[in-house]
Amino acid sequence: MHPLSRRCCSHLKSGFRTVFRTISRKHQHNPTDSPGLRPFRYNHTDSPLRFSLDDEEGPRRSAAIVVGGGPAGIAAVGKLLEVFPGGNITWVDQSFTGGTINQFLRGLPSYGTAGDYVAYAQTLPVIQKLWAVPNRNRHNAVKAMQALDPVRPCALSYVGDMLQLISDGLRKHARVQSVTGTVTLLARDPKTRVWTVAVDTTGVGTNPPLLSLRTPMVILCTGARPVVNTLPVQVSQLPLYTGLSRPHLTKILPPEEPRTIAVIGSGHSAVLVLRNLAHLASTTHPHLRIRWLTRSPHLTYASHVGDSPNGPVIANQYDGLTGKAAEFAREELDGDALATSPAGRFITRVGLPTVPGEPRPQNKDWAREQGDLEHPALVSGLKGCDFAIQAVGFARARLPELRPGVDAGTVALGTRPRTLMFNSETGSLYPAGADRMSAVGLFGAGSGFPEVVPTPEMVKKPRVGVLWFMMFVKKMAPMWALATRDGKFPEGFDPQGRTWFGGP
Ligand SMILES: Cc1cc2nc3c(=O)[nH]c(=O)nc-3n(C[C@H](O)[C@H](O)[C@H](O)COP(=O)(O)OP(=O)(O)OC[C@H]3O[C@@H](n4cnc5c(N)ncnc54)[C@H](O)[C@@H]3O)c2cc1C
Repeated sequence: MHPLSRRCCSHLKSGFRTVFRTISRKHQHNPTDSPGLRPFRYNHTDSPLRFSLDDEEGPRRSAAIVVGGGPAGIAAVGKLLEVFPGGNITWVDQSFTGGTINQFLRGLPSYGTAGDYVAYAQTLPVIQKLWAVPNRNRHNAVKAMQALDPVRPCALSYVGDMLQLISDGLRKHARVQSVTGTVTLLARDPKTRVWTVAVDTTGVGTNPPLLSLRTPMVILCTGARPVVNTLPVQVSQLPLYTGLSRPHLTKILPPEEPRTIAVIGSGHSAVLVLRNLAHLASTTHPHLRIRWLTRSPHLTYASHVGDSPNGPVIANQYDGLTGKAAEFAREELDGDALATSPAGRFITRVGLPTVPGEPRPQNKDWAREQGDLEHPALVSGLKGCDFAIQAVGFARARLPELRPGVDAGTVALGTRPRTLMFNSETGSLYPAGADRMSAVGLFGAGSGFPEVVPTPEMVKKPRVGVLWFMMFVKKMAPMWALATRDGKFPEGFDPQGRTWFGGP
């Protein structure tokens, strides 16, 4: 869990008072003589989306609850303010510091272009208002990015600053109620179609530390975390985000002592970790040595392969290397380059065949299966290393529990379901094995629940990137609201299940 920042705790004081007041009211309220929580009230106006939750009970109930304060959560809050013109949006995050990019990746070059990030900030008028008005007292990260070359990548610190700026602005919006804490549980009452969302605010200073919020619609934008496998030999592991941060590596590694670090993987993160370590070895840490454990000596790059009426056709657009990572990989790591490159003085490559005798798949991250983990090449590659860093992919961050029994009338969604079914075209989700209708009004977006699209290579790939999240949320949020109001799922039935993916 990310540490809760003091700044956020103080920022939230008034919001918490409101939440606490309504919760106290809930305890005086007898659910049996309740008129029933109406899901949505339809305001008969010109737009079919002009409906909102009736809010006679105040902020305890909101039109929607967004969980997660990264780029996907920010996009969801911004879009839902538009979708529910009169409704309150409750927004929960553990720290409101802009998500993974701003917390862990600030020192890295981006894989998207500066123009993409500016487009993210320009997509929704409610977000545009937050930065377009000059404020002499504050550095304006979006304007700073507008001064950069829009077709080139930029430092992720620009993106982090932009996300923080927008996040701070949205939290001050009159219809946004932000709550610092961890959503621990979701349950839904099928009669009223209302979700109960429990938020653990331990460490934030509220009393009681568990808040209970209500809404007909929940959007999970809870992100993803690096996959960490159990390795077959005893070796200290450094978190991937440490490997991605030069200041952290510098702090941990004594400059004058010999150290050997294993880096496992061959994707964007692995290349950036190798770049950081090679930089340290060639400057401040002359005794640092790196063992790169990879399935293939060849890496995969995003490349422009033609043009179509819809724009340029990019091969490996969603998972190929771009920007500075691609430059470093081509010049210093790929194929024979390592034999003569400056980085090759410090990096030794160790090949990891998938199955003995089989060709190594291109750019396939290492160790997804138990057999991989026991492979002798991995065992010998790790022997003698002081540390290992795994850059072997990302998995959905731990989700809140979906279970019954939080409140009278809630229904089982499956206690700690092992698998969630996620529709990668619409963002709908439900626990495998549960009645799908029990999860109406629950949606996901962002790196934990990415849209999956066909590529020019005719395979489906997840689109993980700030602007893509914005486009997905912008497209889907109106449909999420309509489906929630009507007590349905937004998609039709797909008999072959092509768009539904199961996963932890
Ligand atoms: C090396 C590397 C480089 C990258 N470079 C780029 C790039 O150049 N451009 C780009 O667009 N993307 C890049 N990415 C991907 C980027 O990290 C993701 O696109 C982005 O961070 C995902 O946003 P998100 O909103 O889905 O999740 P996150 O940013 O991870 O935010 C999730 C938030 O949810 C909160 N949360 C989680 N669970 C709970 C809970 N139960 N209760 C309350 N809060 C919760 C967390 O505290 C967090 O703040 C890169 C990733 C890596 C690893």
